[in-house]
Amino acid sequence: MLRHVLNHPRRITQGLFGAILLCIPLRWLCVDIPNERFIFFGIPLGVESFLIPALGFLAFCLIILVLSFKRGRVFCAWLCPMHWYLERVNSSRNPKVQRGRTAVLAWAGALLAIEILASFLWPLSQQMAFIRNPSTRLPALAIGGTGAGLFFLLFFHFKEHFSIRACPYGLIQGVVQGPDTEQMRFSDPENTCIHCGLCDNVCPMNLDAKNECDSLRCTGCGLCEAACNSVLGPDRGLFRMSHPKDREA
Ligand code: SF4
Ligand code: SF4
Repeated sequence: MLRHVLNHPRRITQGLFGAILLCIPLRWLCVDIPNERFIFFGIPLGVESFLIPALGFLAFCLIILVLSFKRGRVFCAWLCPMHWYLERVNSSRNPKVQRGRTAVLAWAGALLAIEILASFLWPLSQQMAFIRNPSTRLPALAIGGTGAGLFFLLFFHFKEHFSIRACPYGLIQGVVQGPDTEQMRFSDPENTCIHCGLCDNVCPMNLDAKNECDSLRCTGCGLCEAACNSVLGPDRGLFRMSHPKDREA
């Protein structure tokens, strides 16, 4: 299992980004309001040092933007927890299994998302105090409840439709995508496709992989490529991440 993960850099970056997000409920990455400081991976930083995480965040955004020029929706496929979620719930085409997974993971995801947001500002003890004494904190509880409800709706109902049509990063990608951006490509010059449907089954965006992998809807996650290689043999699959120049050749 560990070997399987280590062989997949995308899985490792997804795991690392998930671990960074989990640092927030653990209060290793948060705002410490009473002491007017920022906790940066366990290191307390005063207001005067706040520039360090701010610049780090800016550098991270710039790196993602530059990579997006070159590789397309890298943030989606390599970092975004929503993509991880979609890989889980959309990997089964059995409607009963898909509904069961979605129901369980949507609840878990909504509660975790709201807990991460709340923990960025308040420690768990303070959140529990809110819940124990709701009458004094009605606005905060109403905001928290509405937020959890919206996250549930996002995970349970909108799913990949949000990622395709409304995700802010996806919309930015539509602007930065240029003639030099790599894209997934399907090519079957020798008619070797056996129409097993596995490429469609594994697609987290629920795309018709053969026909839509070169569109902006595709995150370039490479799951269709791996699936096809597993059916037709290593390096014999019909999907490739390719540069526009390769496509012209
Ligand atoms: S996984 Fe490969 S062989 Fe199977 S349908 Fe998709 S392209 Fe064809
Ligand atoms: S078409 Fe392939 S690369 Fe694109 S999102 Fe679907 S599985 Fe990932």
